[in-house]
Amino acid sequence: MLKVSENKTTLLSENSVIAQMSTFDHEQVLFCQDNATGLKAIIAVHNTVLGPALGGTRMWKYNNEMEALNDVLRLSRGMTYKAAITGLNLGGGKAVIIGDSYTQKSEALMRRFGKFVESLGGKYITAEDVGISTKDMEYVKMETDYVSGLPVSLGGSGDPSPVTAFGVYMGMKAAAKELTGSDSLTGKKVMVQGVGHVGQVLVDYLAKENAKVFVADINELRVKEVAEKYKATVINGDDVFDVDMDIYAPCALGATINDNTLTRLKCSIIAGAANNQLADEKVHGVKVMDKGIIYAPDFLINAGGLINVNSEVEGYGRERSMEMASNIYNTTLDIIKKSKSENIPTYLAANQMAENRIEAIGKVKLPY
Ligand code: NAD
Repeated sequence: MLKVSENKTTLLSENSVIAQMSTFDHEQVLFCQDNATGLKAIIAVHNTVLGPALGGTRMWKYNNEMEALNDVLRLSRGMTYKAAITGLNLGGGKAVIIGDSYTQKSEALMRRFGKFVESLGGKYITAEDVGISTKDMEYVKMETDYVSGLPVSLGGSGDPSPVTAFGVYMGMKAAAKELTGSDSLTGKKVMVQGVGHVGQVLVDYLAKENAKVFVADINELRVKEVAEKYKATVINGDDVFDVDMDIYAPCALGATINDNTLTRLKCSIIAGAANNQLADEKVHGVKVMDKGIIYAPDFLINAGGLINVNSEVEGYGRERSMEMASNIYNTTLDIIKKSKSENIPTYLAANQMAENRIEAIGKVKLPY
């Protein structure tokens, strides 16, 4: 289960959809097409052992269908691991709508998409992602109840960013504890790259703990405001990777841990909110470890957003979400310990813990 398939049937060509699904053991893929609204979408359900597959819907101008399929398969699998490591009773799923989110979206298209989500009978629960707005989700909600991450005014859990930022802060503190014996960040030099929804709240936590904060953002106005408010030092552009820092917190975009930046980074901890921070998991996960840097796996410490969305599914509030996000501290400690004792990169330790949980809970469920 969940492992790369070793014995693909010879009846399937390399590029066939089912062959691709079998590579990472996806359960189901639904192709959605509707001429009247122009909808072209793919919903991927990776694994539902722990619960319904939850994951956002992304609208993107993919160059071709295979690109869209690859993206939805990769992203849905990521959601399985994120939910499993966080201890949630959710599986992994994702949806992509092929098209330009600025020019090709309409109420009818989103509602037609909602009908497809509904047709899965709760096996897949959708939410917002890139190219999809709260308004779009309101349209989806008109056709299905299998939607989460709605605004508070619609009875939803609202902006997940504060919970995400808290989880990242917890993961950072756990890494500090493992490195120095204390989880205090007082006096630690922290470089926060990206001070958007998550980064800004993270800076708030760090400033309250008297960390020495550096901030960077391509939005000059925003970074100036944040720097002034929290007495942080602004770093421009690529200089981020040359700063004399203890902790690097990528909170903007992925793949910033790569061959180039690893020769420059002087930090001892990497802990941030951005997804897919390691440019190539297998290569850079090992390189980070070899450099003696503790890497708090992104999909674990940024799971606060998923915890928040899950609160709508389970019916609990913000307080409980924060409580659950605080547990990211303990899980991060467990992963770093496993990584050290087995001499494996932290991302791999986290993957294995997620797989073990799915396997164990899968057995609990069998008697039903
Ligand atoms: P956001 O769009 O609000 O903020 C991102 C910030 O990064 C923006 O201010 C943007 O100007 C800045 N930025 C973009 N490119 C940059 C660059 N090259 N250098 C410096 N700054 C740059 O996004 P967010 O909600 O704060 O999320 C931050 C990251 O965390 C994203 O990668 C997101 O996928 C991930 N994430 C967010 C959540 C959540 O709850 N919001 C949950 C999980 C993961």
